[in-house]
Formats: sequence, structure tokens, C-alpha cells
Amino acid sequence: MFHKSVRDCVRCGTCKTICPTYETLRNETMSGRGRIAILDAILSGQIKPSGRAVESIFSCIQCGACARNCPPGINIPEVLYTGRKYLKRYAGGYKLFRLLTGIALKHPDILFSISRLLKKPVNRFLIRNNLVPCGFSLPDNSLTRLPQVINTRDRKGRVAVFRGCSTNYAYPEIGNSLIRVLVKLGYEVILPKAEVCCGTPFRTLGMEKEARAFARKNVEVFGRLKADAVISACPTCILALKYEYPLLINRGIENAMDIPSFLSLQENMTLNNPLTMKAFYHDPCHMLYGLKVSREPREILKKCGVTLTGNSDHSCCGFGGSTYSIKFRDASLRLAKARWKTIEESSAEAVFTSCPGCILQLKKVCRSVDVFHVIEAVDEAMG
Ligand code: SF4
Ligand code: SF4
Repeated sequence: MFHKSVRDCVRCGTCKTICPTYETLRNETMSGRGRIAILDAILSGQIKPSGRAVESIFSCIQCGACARNCPPGINIPEVLYTGRKYLKRYAGGYKLFRLLTGIALKHPDILFSISRLLKKPVNRFLIRNNLVPCGFSLPDNSLTRLPQVINTRDRKGRVAVFRGCSTNYAYPEIGNSLIRVLVKLGYEVILPKAEVCCGTPFRTLGMEKEARAFARKNVEVFGRLKADAVISACPTCILALKYEYPLLINRGIENAMDIPSFLSLQENMTLNNPLTMKAFYHDPCHMLYGLKVSREPREILKKCGVTLTGNSDHSCCGFGGSTYSIKFRDASLRLAKARWKTIEESSAEAVFTSCPGCILQLKKVCRSVDVFHVIEAVDEAMG
């Protein structure tokens, strides 16, 4: 499948016109077409898998913008994930990333506890390495400390929450908003302690074996809950659970749902406390291109009393996970600054989005307005 996809490319360049990494660097090797051509040349032995060739494959932000309009229908992000798996051993510069990612994702709670004890130097390290915005401070608690079952009066259903790493360890207040909203809507909330990372950070580093092991674990844990839905504040997690796991392990979490889609089905959502503000909505790439959800969050914000303003054309915020933010720091910040320009022109009083990763990134540049998750607007508006 991988080899066929690489061969199927007709070099039309449609993917290049929409690729954020090409847009920033104006270099063919940083476009979808360039990356597929490089893989083709490596597979056919025309070039050696070293240096810039490998860097090009690892520099894709995995936004998914290109996959939707490729004429032969190549799933370019999936091809590049597989390409990274094959090229991992030639990517010497990523060895330390792989080691640290392995430790962090296998022992996140221990690492979080140690980081909290060393809060000041850890905050400084995270800010200096472009992982978090200036002024960021590690939260005092993650969502892991919450009970596994949170009850509600007049229970109408049962929902499992997939916490996700960024929500859990960077913005637990987003997770708390989600839980409050679900309880107010009449759902019993399950937070399984056995949840592991969705595995996407492993895949971005070519660590497919580790990603598969995590996928199996999550499918086993969430599969036995018999919940009406598995919800996460992070679209990257939902994309992985629902659509990427079947490609990885032949089984996914079919009832996984993003927040805006889930909320748009709730008929009893009473919003008594409208926000009355002018705000900009930023589409997260994985929500827009992966889950194909863009109308629902806007409708929800409008119901919350938010007046949306500004140019709704999409562009990537440049987060691309921790590897991209560190390894391609300048390009990542350039994309964020371009996004800020559009936001600034909109004269919005606040920015809303549906992804904790986008929030981390946008807060690096949105100094004069605050950035929130859509679920925080709903929590506030429900009163
Ligand atoms: S996934 Fe995004 S960054 Fe990667 S090649 Fe496609 S458009 Fe470019
Ligand atoms: S859009 Fe598809 S066929 Fe065209 S250059 Fe990109 S990967 Fe190749």
C-alpha cells in the first residue's frame, strides 16, 4: 500500500498549493509533492536516505490539508508516517527525541510529579524550547487525580472522556470544563486511569511499534466501558482513536467524538448566561481536514452569545506537536505570526478554537487577546 501510494503520485502539485510548510519556506522539498518524490527516489535507490532527504520527510506538520484534494486520492500524511517508520534509523538527529518521548509517554504521571517539584526550571525549559507560551506555568494538578466515575443527577447516559496529554498536563481546566458540561447535560462521566497517550507523538517520530502498542491498550480500555461516546477536547486524539487506529491495528474506537459534534446533538443544552463578545474562531487542522468539522463549533459559539468576526479562511497555527515546535522552531513561529496577523485584523476580543495544542501555539503570539477552547465558552454560558 505504501509503495503503491508513492508510485501513484502524478506530480500534479495540487498538494503543494495548500501545504503550510511549503508556504513558509518556499522550498519544493518542504511540500507534499516534494516529500513523495523524495520517498520515491529513496525506494527506487536513486538517492540515499540521508541528510536533507530525511529532514524533509520529518518536517511535515501532518496537518492533512493535502490529503483532501490529491487527484489519485493518496493519504499523504499516512504515507509520510510510514516513510518515517522506514527512515527512523537514518534520522540520527531525532534519537534524543525518541528517547525522551518514550520516557515521557510511558511514565507521564511520574514525569509530571517531578516537573511540578521543579516547576520554575521546567517552566523556563519549556518556554525556552518553544513548547509553551511565555507566562505558561505547569498546572498544580492533572486530571488523573479525579475519580474514575463522576456521577450526575437524572442520568441520561454515560460518556467516557479521553483526557489526552495536552489537556491533562498543560490545560486541565479545559478538561474540567468538559466534565462540568457533561454532568450538567445529565451524563455520568468515566475517566479511565488506564488511558495512555493516543500515540500520535510516537508516529511523528516513526515509532510505529510503540504507537501500535498504545493503540491496542486504548482500544481495550475504552472498548470495555460500554459508553455512549468517547469524547476528547483534542481533535488529534479523536482522529487517532477513530480513523488512524483502524489503519494501525485494524480496530478503532468507533464511538469516539469531538466536542462540537457531540454538543451539536444535545437538545437539552440550556445557555442562560450568554457571553456577548466578539471573537475569532481558529479551525484546528485535525478538526477541519481530519474530522471535517467546521460548522458545528461556530454554531455552538453563536448559541453561547459569541459574535464571530474576521476572515474565516483557514491557515495552520504551526504547532505540529512538540517535535515540530522544537526542530523547526522558526518555521513554526512564522506560521503562528501569520495567523496572529489575521486575528489582529479581525479586532476580536478573544480567540476560540477546539484544540489544546492550537491554544498552546496561539498563546505564543496572541499577546493582547486571550485564547480559549470552545468547551470553556459552553461551560461559562451554561452558568
Ligand atoms: S500534511 Fe500538511 S505539512 Fe504535510 S505535506 Fe500535507 S499539507 Fe504539507
Ligand atoms: S496532489 Fe497527490 S498526485 Fe498531486 S503531487 Fe500531491 S501527492 Fe502527488
